[in-house]
Amino acid sequence: MPTDSMTTVIGGGVIGLATSYALVREGHFVTLVERHSEIGQEASFANGGQLSYRYVSPLADAGVPKEAVRWLFKGNSPILLKPQLDLHQWRWLMQFLAACNRTTNRRNTATLLDLALSSQKALGVWRQGDLKDFSWRRPGKLVLYRDGRKFAKAANSISEPQLQQVLSAGDCASVEPTFADLAPQLAGGIFSPEDEVADCRKFCESLLTALLESPRFKRIQGSASLSESHLGRCKVSVDGKPHDTDHVVLAAGLESRSIARRLGISLPLYPLKGYSLTQQAKAEYLPQISVTDYENRVVYARLGNTVRIAAMVDIGARNADVDVRRIRQLRQMAAITLPQAGPYDRAEAWAGLRPATPTGVPIITRTRYRNLILNVGHGALGFTLSAGSGIAVRDLINA
Ligand SMILES: Cc1cc2nc3c(=O)[nH]c(=O)nc-3n(C[C@H](O)[C@H](O)[C@H](O)COP(=O)(O)OP(=O)(O)OC[C@H]3O[C@@H](n4cnc5c(N)ncnc54)[C@H](O)[C@@H]3O)c2cc1C
Repeated sequence: MPTDSMTTVIGGGVIGLATSYALVREGHFVTLVERHSEIGQEASFANGGQLSYRYVSPLADAGVPKEAVRWLFKGNSPILLKPQLDLHQWRWLMQFLAACNRTTNRRNTATLLDLALSSQKALGVWRQGDLKDFSWRRPGKLVLYRDGRKFAKAANSISEPQLQQVLSAGDCASVEPTFADLAPQLAGGIFSPEDEVADCRKFCESLLTALLESPRFKRIQGSASLSESHLGRCKVSVDGKPHDTDHVVLAAGLESRSIARRLGISLPLYPLKGYSLTQQAKAEYLPQISVTDYENRVVYARLGNTVRIAAMVDIGARNADVDVRRIRQLRQMAAITLPQAGPYDRAEAWAGLRPATPTGVPIITRTRYRNLILNVGHGALGFTLSAGSGIAVRDLINA
């Protein structure tokens, strides 16, 4: 549906790029504004690489507060709380706790599953087109459980029984032999053969390359801000200079909160800091399929000739610096769980801030400003949900 209207997308992470791509494919004119000289430099840089379409249950769930009491304040747990004198942190935590019940979790999981499956479908179409290689594979995802109760709960709440298999510990070892040494400690696993992996930063680059081929796309480097205009609209400035546009899509990750605040819109976004290691190893030592160590909340994905290992949720981190202690814990965990691909002392370390809502559900909506759409708050699943979120924004603009 070609159109003469211009959409400005703020933010060149995976969400802003996927949104731009969904729009340009439909014949829209798009200007992407990114403050850095390169795209995909923040949360989308070295994430876990999981296109985890069938494993979308948000962190907020029944039982999490109780479990969290054991984790919180402990230095080596998967989730760490650094309390701050910050009203926003406490408000976010209260909203998170309010979402920690079975009913809310089920409803949010269903919403995320719809978006995830629409993402998988959209990415399937996009992959047939002009995107260059981004280390995409469909090896399936195996979630390993050590605790029998958690395993039984997971087995009972499978979303698509025809596409998810409940495996014994022995079966897990046959499906992914690089994790075979763990079998005696396992209760079992759930295997989703249709789940995928890819390199998120390469995906961003490949979207940008394809976009730059289109005469309908322009990229600007600069810092965008929003302010009120007349007739219920907002206006965009880039580095303080007015920028003309018909529609605006705010997709600036965590920074969306302060951009929207200028318009009186309060976004419940909070940084959940996580870490990753990228380790090169011989092919025979790399896992073929994507593996999640559930109790330790660590994911392993083979990307090309490397394994990407991602983990941890630090609540209350002030920046995306690599915390030496946390990354040492991750190296140790990897050395115990996947020793063949180690040693991990030279693995490339990275930390990023997930732009998270308390419920885990992103905010994709029109606003009271007639020309402003939000595409924010993708938390732990932004790569997985990116294509579907872009399509959802396209549909809002087309409506
Ligand atoms: C350790 C870790 C592991 C993860 N693993 C996975 C995974 O396996 N699978 C998965 O699906 N998701 C994963 N995620 C989550 C995923 O990475 C994020 O949800 C996703 O990257 C968010 O994308 P985004 O585009 O919203 O934000 P970002 O990638 O942060 O992009 C926002 C962009 O906006 C730009 N910007 C900000 N302000 C302005 C401004 N004023 N003007 C112009 N530009 C601006 C920034 O420079 C940035 O480039 C993981 C995250 C982490 C931290």
